[in-house]
Amino acid sequence: MKVSEFNRIGLTVALGLLVASCGARDEGSSTMTLDEALDLVTEDALIAHVSYLADDALEGRMTGQPGYDKAATYVAEQFAALGVEPAGNDGWYQQVPLVTYNLVPEASAVTLHINGEDVAVEYREQFAMGGDPLRESASVRAGLVFVGHGVHAPELGYSDYEGVNVEGKIVVMFNNAPGTFETTQRAYFASGETKLAEAVRRGAVGMIGLSTRESAEKYPWDKYKERIGVRPGMTWVTETGEASGYFPEIIATAGLNDEAAALLFARAPFDFEAARDAIEANRSVSVDLGIEATIAQSSTHDRLTSPNVVGLVRGTDPVLADEYVVFTAHLDHNGLETYRDGDKVLNGAYDNAIGVALMIETARVLAAAPPRRSVLFVALTAEERGLLGSEYFAEYPTVQQEAIVANINLDMPLFLFPVADLIAFGAEHSTLGAVAERAAIAEAFSFSPDPMPEENLFVRSDQYSFVKQGVPAVYLIPGFTSTDPDVDGDALVGDHLRNHYHEPSDDLARPFHWPSAERFARANARFGYEVAMDANRPRWHEGNFFGERFATP
Ligand SMILES: [Zn+2]
Repeated sequence: MKVSEFNRIGLTVALGLLVASCGARDEGSSTMTLDEALDLVTEDALIAHVSYLADDALEGRMTGQPGYDKAATYVAEQFAALGVEPAGNDGWYQQVPLVTYNLVPEASAVTLHINGEDVAVEYREQFAMGGDPLRESASVRAGLVFVGHGVHAPELGYSDYEGVNVEGKIVVMFNNAPGTFETTQRAYFASGETKLAEAVRRGAVGMIGLSTRESAEKYPWDKYKERIGVRPGMTWVTETGEASGYFPEIIATAGLNDEAAALLFARAPFDFEAARDAIEANRSVSVDLGIEATIAQSSTHDRLTSPNVVGLVRGTDPVLADEYVVFTAHLDHNGLETYRDGDKVLNGAYDNAIGVALMIETARVLAAAPPRRSVLFVALTAEERGLLGSEYFAEYPTVQQEAIVANINLDMPLFLFPVADLIAFGAEHSTLGAVAERAAIAEAFSFSPDPMPEENLFVRSDQYSFVKQGVPAVYLIPGFTSTDPDVDGDALVGDHLRNHYHEPSDDLARPFHWPSAERFARANARFGYEVAMDANRPRWHEGNFFGERFATP
């Protein structure tokens, strides 16, 4: 195992060993029935994992920081104690090559060229810019073309690119996608990666982002601007210069506030508010704006690596053992917020120490009762920085890519009260949904449909990295209903999301209903077990949007 340059403190090792020696038991290598193995899951073990991972000593498990590396060591030691085999390409680890980058605001600018006049737009007050993951500096001057949402979806009868030519131009687009789209399709077309890929295909060289009225109301610029440039950007980057969601053809990008956005329409046939009206009415009104802009950026870079931790339970069937069900849970969180008074540690007890704890306990069950297929357990780095660890693993897995049959992800399962039901995001897309439902019911949970499809959680956590590789995936979480009729589950979940999500208060002081967590771990293990026992690989449903788009026949 490679010791990270950050992991210099002997205390790290000492602490890890201490926890390993009191938290882990040797289950022995004799195989059990699934029911016997399920009984190995205990509340105490879950509590021990979360207590270690969410402790202040791990300083919020920030990717690339010592606290994350301690957490990675802990997971590897737990896997080892369970008889899980190392399956990274560096022992337990798959080192993910990362770069952090910061904009140099003094050397970056947005200038509009309107009617022979240069109009400077002010950084942070009027524009946001994220820096470039690879280039030290770059500048582009080009004509502006307004392209609505920047969406091209002929299969849905919609295109923002009809009648405009963006070759060599800077495209100007609103965030999000038409409200008439079904939510998963809307999420796909709303993603920056999809939009940039389309713009690049049509020869665009830059992008300016605008806010819809809805998002400007939800995230007022005056609040948003406080966060501009606070945290460096991060992405993975290979030796050959491949980087996540990176399109070198796009030379520079910027986001404008409403005041600056209005200037772009100075010579257009309609003004900015009319453009917003059209977007709200799902009308495409793309038009050459008849002005030019210069976007210039300068960035600084730091390279680092951070590991995914990869464990393997080898399958018992001589043929199916060469296929893999992949469990994932992100191990990183958001570190320290040093500018805060008082508690500065983003402990991420729910996001996602508990998910990792559940995955370790799932590994305990499947190591004791190995199914026919092999099972990988991957504690992921850099989820909070943009699903980076999962994307890197799904693109460059430590096993043959085609051999991955399913992904089961865990991210922020909430056990704020005695839980009555489970939800599987993505259940409706593939045969995995029915398996998840059977597993929930076997552990006396009811099974609920996605209660907030508009949030698009299916495309917002690590399972989506596998979906993009064509792998059927599901993201299992507890539902919002309590077995206690006096508990308003919706209200408690809502309160957590509003007041504790990504806050220092997401720590061990939050309520945890451990019996529900234990039962969830059992359901999760049953789920993976059934998928790994089935002679047939899971399949996307016929004609499914994700299957059609991403799966290779
Ligand atoms: Zn998070």
